[in-house]
Amino acid sequence: MTRVLVVEDEQHLAEGLRFNLEAEGYEVQVADSGEAALGVLLAGAQRFDVVILDIMLPGVDGFHVMSEMRLGGQFIPTLMLTARGRPDDVLRGFAAGADDYLTKPFDLSILIARIHGLLRRRDWLLSSTNRGSGPTDERDTFTFDGKTVSFDTLELRVGDRVFPLTLMEANLLRYLIRYEGKPVSRKSMLEEVWALHEDTDTRPIDNFIVRLRRYIEDDPKRPRHLLTVRGIGYRFIAAPGLD
Ligand code: CA
Repeated sequence: MTRVLVVEDEQHLAEGLRFNLEAEGYEVQVADSGEAALGVLLAGAQRFDVVILDIMLPGVDGFHVMSEMRLGGQFIPTLMLTARGRPDDVLRGFAAGADDYLTKPFDLSILIARIHGLLRRRDWLLSSTNRGSGPTDERDTFTFDGKTVSFDTLELRVGDRVFPLTLMEANLLRYLIRYEGKPVSRKSMLEEVWALHEDTDTRPIDNFIVRLRRYIEDDPKRPRHLLTVRGIGYRFIAAPGLD
């Protein structure tokens, strides 16, 4: 059964979410503060498939919870609830490690569709890493220039260092690797990796690229693997200087 942790201090909203998500067949647990959420998540005694995380919380806020989760090695797909008209919140949320966001107030059917999207992308990531039969199949690891990405364990190894990747970081890297050598537009990344359409702000992608560059580039300011393609997006080069 899919288990959802709802982190929300407004009781009527939290109980409304519980009621509706349970009606969808999910098992729901509510944490009414950031501290309570971190207590549950970092203890690791319970397994969750998705976290719905409000930003405005008493005590530590959703951004803090998000970054502490990731620092604590919890890479559960997480959707943040942001206030309408605050694009900065979206960017901060992604920077802290969020996988998706929804602005309040939201339509319940949209929330459920987003949860399905997160679970589908997680399953896609897990299943595509387990196939590996034919030569064109995506493997569970990809090695380039002394770096190895493990898509099943969501880790990037660079020499002796291991960087944990979030689901979305791994998905974005996989997508760029799939089109190795070719320019990939920000719009296609939003659609294929995040399943976002319309006129979604593409700046979060740039934040993701900045983070990936910190992991894989010797000098993130002079990238050799993750190149900017002006006016379009990015291009991944596995072996710089050999192409
Ligand atoms: Ca709140």
